[in-house]
Amino acid sequence: MTNTGEHEEPARPGRRGVIKGFGLAAGGLAAGAAGGAAVVAGLPEEAPASAMAIPSAGPWRPARGHVDVTWSVDTAQKLVALTFDDGPMPKWTPMVHDVLDSEKVRATFFMVGERLLENARLVHGRMGRHEAGNHTWQHKDLSLLTHDQAYRQIHRAHAAIAQITGKEARHLRPPFGQLGGTTLSAAGQLGYDLTIWSIKMLEKTYEKNPPGLVDYIVNNTRPGMIVLAHDTGNPDRLVALKNLVPMIKGLRAKGFEFVTVSELIQAGARPEPPKRP
Ligand SMILES: [Zn+2]
Repeated sequence: MTNTGEHEEPARPGRRGVIKGFGLAAGGLAAGAAGGAAVVAGLPEEAPASAMAIPSAGPWRPARGHVDVTWSVDTAQKLVALTFDDGPMPKWTPMVHDVLDSEKVRATFFMVGERLLENARLVHGRMGRHEAGNHTWQHKDLSLLTHDQAYRQIHRAHAAIAQITGKEARHLRPPFGQLGGTTLSAAGQLGYDLTIWSIKMLEKTYEKNPPGLVDYIVNNTRPGMIVLAHDTGNPDRLVALKNLVPMIKGLRAKGFEFVTVSELIQAGARPEPPKRP
């Protein structure tokens, strides 16, 4: 299965059924020459709960009337946002903070709420110039959850981030980069926008070739891009974290400045149209 690869493959209990259903659909296609209605025979009878766009039959009043989904920002300025997902966890999170401190780089940490609660000491006094983003309470695949379940995952992480870092997170990165209608409605209810990414560390590809990974990131980063990295996970991810310094220096040599996700989005905000006299 091709995936965005943000994280280990999520459990997809319905996968087998989908493949089977596809086979039925293909069969239906052959039969469909004789009778058109059979073409849809293999499709699910009803959409999963996570496909809902609106969680209630009654009036729907989210905190804001829209949710933005950002992969990268349209700007000519040489700005880039480094993002680190899945922490905070022992071992790597302090190492990432040490590098960012020594290089004076601002970044955004998309935190998992229950990990933050357990490892609060790791970020104590270290988030000052960084942005805290929401990566849900338990790193569940939001595309499989109902609105209420997705809401709780985002809300509980938001509360932990506020309590421990003193920051009001405003950007949600859905785990695995997977989202459904309920991800959007729950985010909307909580006043969140979604942040995906536009380039990621290819740790598996370059695990044995660290200079190759540095070149890949430095040569392919464009103004407005959001870089995905992780401050915990499989050992292969260390190839990215151990080479942050040459990446940072390489990007700076090309004129790039490191900003938080919110700063990047602000830089890409369309200016107000000039007022007519
Ligand atoms: Zn993640």
